[in-house]
Amino acid sequence: MARRTEKSETAFAHASKVLVGGVNSPVRAFAAVGGTPPVIAKAKGSQITDIDGNTYVDYVCGYGPAILGHASEPVVTAINKAVRNGTTYGAPTEIETKLASAVVAAIESIDQVRFVSSGTEAVMSAVRLARGVTGRDKIIKCIGCYHGHADSFLVAAGSGAATLGTPSSPGVPAGAAAATLLVEYNDLAGVQAILEENPTEVAAVLVEPIAGNMGVVLPGPGYLQGLRDLCDTHDTLLIFDEVITGFRVGYGGAQGLYGVRPDLTTLGKIIGGCMPVGAFGGRADIMQNLAPIGDVYQAGTLSGNPAAMAAGLATLAELREEGFYERLEAVSGEIAAGMQAAATDAGIGSKVCFNRAGAMMCCFFTPGPVTDFASASVSNPKAHAAYFHAMLDAGVYLAPSQFEAMLVSAAHTDADVEFTIQAAGRAFAAAAEFM
Ligand SMILES: *Cc1c(COP(=O)(O)O)cnc(C)c1O
Repeated sequence: MARRTEKSETAFAHASKVLVGGVNSPVRAFAAVGGTPPVIAKAKGSQITDIDGNTYVDYVCGYGPAILGHASEPVVTAINKAVRNGTTYGAPTEIETKLASAVVAAIESIDQVRFVSSGTEAVMSAVRLARGVTGRDKIIKCIGCYHGHADSFLVAAGSGAATLGTPSSPGVPAGAAAATLLVEYNDLAGVQAILEENPTEVAAVLVEPIAGNMGVVLPGPGYLQGLRDLCDTHDTLLIFDEVITGFRVGYGGAQGLYGVRPDLTTLGKIIGGCMPVGAFGGRADIMQNLAPIGDVYQAGTLSGNPAAMAAGLATLAELREEGFYERLEAVSGEIAAGMQAAATDAGIGSKVCFNRAGAMMCCFFTPGPVTDFASASVSNPKAHAAYFHAMLDAGVYLAPSQFEAMLVSAAHTDADVEFTIQAAGRAFAAAAEFM
């Protein structure tokens, strides 16, 4: 039976009159794949339901936060309990300290942390701190890495920006863009060359330790340690943007997995348990430069608000359960293997490239290997769009962009996995038409 879409289409038309493009974040508008997005009514566990009553197995997971699945009971209970006591005071609370302690215990390189309300704010603030501490203005960022929408980072940014074909945005001052030096991901020699050409000018190397905003791209052997060594040589700070990888690829983040310590780390998504929270943290001697102790200013009316802190704390408690990441890895591995087999059955096994890091994965419609934005961006957009729409029609909800990750949650069941692989069979057959 064909999927019903009338109510979503009407609602989206109404939305488009009062919300720009009908959305509050661009990728949601389906610009890259065409069509109108399902308008969501509710979600529970691994499933998301639109206002026409269609239910999908969800691999968007709110673009990262929903690692426990949607409306996880411990999180819902914690939020309910918190809001009864008021949702913001503009004053210190004990629950902020509890979540901060959990973050410091989880991530080895973090001695002190500050909470903000989004990933964008976290990275923007961490970079300001790095500039303030080093007295330098320039930063190095990788082409295709996304660090939020602050001015300095909207230069060759991935995901939403890449999808729209606007690697940089009007409205970004030339000065802000000029201070951002670009290099391909995994290009260590490129970073070295920039640091040598700009001696004592680069405040920080900013990188996603596993890239999750140009699809999924893994760091090559020695890449992250190489960045660490180059930063040490040039007195430059190393910032890992773990907004998507933090608490997803392991409880200690990508830095725990690869054993490389950055000076500063940014967090978001999972840390707020599906509420708006970001964080940045790192070495105490660096963090102590932040107001009110130091001179680098940073503030937020809703930062550390108790309902969001409660959601984050309840989420992290679930992640510490024995075997949590082992099970997530097993389910993610089954999905990837099953989908790869489905692509082979559809006759395009050697024409697609699967990249996976734990519970984040991606299928590129190019033989690969995909190791940077240049190799990611040659993925066939028509094949991707056909695959995307076939998955949606079959009841599998993926991010409507080649450059977003497919994210697995703890709520995905064996039945979901089986259903997804079946759907993928049909979706790869649809994609094969364009390859
Ligand atoms: C999502 C993301 C951001 C931005 O976070 P927002 O909460 O959307 O502002 C920054 N960096 C990375 C790596 C991300 O994945």
